[in-house]
Amino acid sequence: MGEIRLDALTGEVVIVSPTRANRPVSPTLCPFCPPSQEIDPKKQVQIVQNKYPALSKTPDERITKGGKPAYGVSEIVVESLTHDIDLPSMDAKTVSEIIAVSHKRMFELFCDPEISYVHYFRNKPVSGGATITHPHSQIYALPFVPPLLRSEVNGFANGCPICESVNESERVVAKVGDVRVYVPFAPRTPYQMIVAGEHIEAFWHVKKNTLEKIAQAILLSLNALERLFSSRVNYVLCAHNSPKNAHSFHAHFEVIPQFSDKAVVRFSMGLEKTTGTPLLDILPEEMAFSLREALKL
Ligand SMILES: [Zn+2]
Ligand SMILES: [Zn+2]
Ligand SMILES: [Zn+2]
Repeated sequence: MGEIRLDALTGEVVIVSPTRANRPVSPTLCPFCPPSQEIDPKKQVQIVQNKYPALSKTPDERITKGGKPAYGVSEIVVESLTHDIDLPSMDAKTVSEIIAVSHKRMFELFCDPEISYVHYFRNKPVSGGATITHPHSQIYALPFVPPLLRSEVNGFANGCPICESVNESERVVAKVGDVRVYVPFAPRTPYQMIVAGEHIEAFWHVKKNTLEKIAQAILLSLNALERLFSSRVNYVLCAHNSPKNAHSFHAHFEVIPQFSDKAVVRFSMGLEKTTGTPLLDILPEEMAFSLREALKL
């Protein structure tokens, strides 16, 4: 199945899952459209098993010396029964249902004592790295805390950087009630956006009406990106909820655009790929301004 390896040089964890290489690039029959046996045709939003999971609750023990069995869970959230629809065209009620169904399942997985962190993400279909174009997102329950989340937990040591940032008007892109979409002070990628509401540690604790505001804010962030760059941008949407044993955390969504055409957005990859330090060519305040203007169109 797979194994978890620690790189002794960097201290970073790598999941190795050779069986995932067998997954079809674009299956002829969509596994998430009726009458597929994988889905329940009565539910719009539902969780299904990942047929090619990177992690398993019964991992193969025959692993390479030095590796660890890849314990964990990887599941798919089918977001709609309609094949040709993408998140930005859905209404806020549907998007909040997607977040609610995902996070209900994520909380169940989080209660497993072997699990340290549960992640949620979705790629923009077709060219965002997804092998199936039917609207879906993914859940990963991991037996370790990934480096980005470890760094974020450390960021809460002396207060909450998100609560301090949300009222920074120059970088705010949109507001829905007390939910803000904003560009971080030091984004990791051009036009990265954070969507955050009240200070809660995980979205599985959020009330339904707050969830709908968060859904509206996510839609605004994606619409701003699409209006500004149309099909010339891909993005990953993810939720960062508190890992286990964090003394403080402020749950948020992140929209991480991926540009491949330097004629659309100038960016430098060499320094980041070789040192982990991003180098941006645009001021974050200008990114927020362009995204705000795009929403006025
Ligand atoms: Zn489909
Ligand atoms: Zn906060
Ligand atoms: Zn984050």
